[in-house]
Amino acid sequence: MITQKDIKNLNRIKHKKEDIISIYVPHNPTKSQEWNYSVNVQDLLKELKRMLSFQNSKKTKTLLEKIKFSVTKPASFKGLAIFASLDGRFWREFSLSISPPSLLVLKNSPYLKPLLEILDEYERFAVALVDRVHARFFLVYLGKIIEERSFADDLIKRHDQGGMSQKRYQRHIDGHADHHLRNVAQALYKFVWRKACGRILLGGTKENLHHFKRIIHPDLRQKIVGEFHIDSLRVSKGEILKKALMREEKAERAKEKEILKEWRELLGKNKALDSLEAILLALQEKSVQVLLVRDGYKESGWQCINCGNLVASSGKPKECPYCKGKMIFEDNIIERALNKALEQGSFIEFLPASLLHQNFQNIGAVLRF
Ligand SMILES: [Zn+2]
Repeated sequence: MITQKDIKNLNRIKHKKEDIISIYVPHNPTKSQEWNYSVNVQDLLKELKRMLSFQNSKKTKTLLEKIKFSVTKPASFKGLAIFASLDGRFWREFSLSISPPSLLVLKNSPYLKPLLEILDEYERFAVALVDRVHARFFLVYLGKIIEERSFADDLIKRHDQGGMSQKRYQRHIDGHADHHLRNVAQALYKFVWRKACGRILLGGTKENLHHFKRIIHPDLRQKIVGEFHIDSLRVSKGEILKKALMREEKAERAKEKEILKEWRELLGKNKALDSLEAILLALQEKSVQVLLVRDGYKESGWQCINCGNLVASSGKPKECPYCKGKMIFEDNIIERALNKALEQGSFIEFLPASLLHQNFQNIGAVLRF
């Protein structure tokens, strides 16, 4: 499972030569078990061979074999990302539970944009199913349930009515249920905090959830993005995942709208930017807090070999406007800008084209101060 930390580490890698190959392969999950791969992989390998043909060294041949082995071995996940140096010294491989686009890129650093897009789309999600006696927690991340915890209030389970009157017994049980729900609320707080979940989805009867939401910590209440009503907690993992993913997509779209709204407000107060030139300068000055980028946005331009400054211009600038260094051509400076934002710890938000409004074209930024 790939994490933000992995991405940060990959982002630090920068070679002098263009000798890092980044490979993304989508897997067809229905075929993967049968040693049967999509044509994609064959095309990819052919392209790779062609790309590396000028480097007729033994090391490259070994690398090609290694890549071939990795992309053709059977797997149950949805995709694969490989980053490797041509001399074979550097190798990182990640299985992905989200299908990436099929890609092959040779550069002086790992090509991370597809990974960033995947991570942005999928936040860590907690699902809590609660009733008066049991609770089940799930951690959903990158399209998968990766952990489950379940517990039951033993006291209630062992109880029988004994000599108590019906009314007294019911009161007794209600007291236990309340106690149980409070324990669950505490456990959920710890779970969400430890697993760094940004969102919570609740499941249970309307009545129980109503009670539960009243007693949980306000921090948790803020993270709730929805609830679904079920009478029994005996729901299959697949069912829960389906509900969580549906919610997740809705929550992600809502979050994007919120960020866009905030950005527009800050734009009026000069605390945000909407032109590429200004954003590139802000990145150079390390003052970007949030970088908003339209999915698939590309732009060619120039980068200073001395200070890394980026300039969007069709004609070659005489020198770096920042340090007077030499400028070299970059076919996609947006990719470079994303790398810089990542290095500086800025948040990156990719926006689908469908969400764009009048004043947001392709790129935007919120400033740190
Ligand atoms: Zn410069």
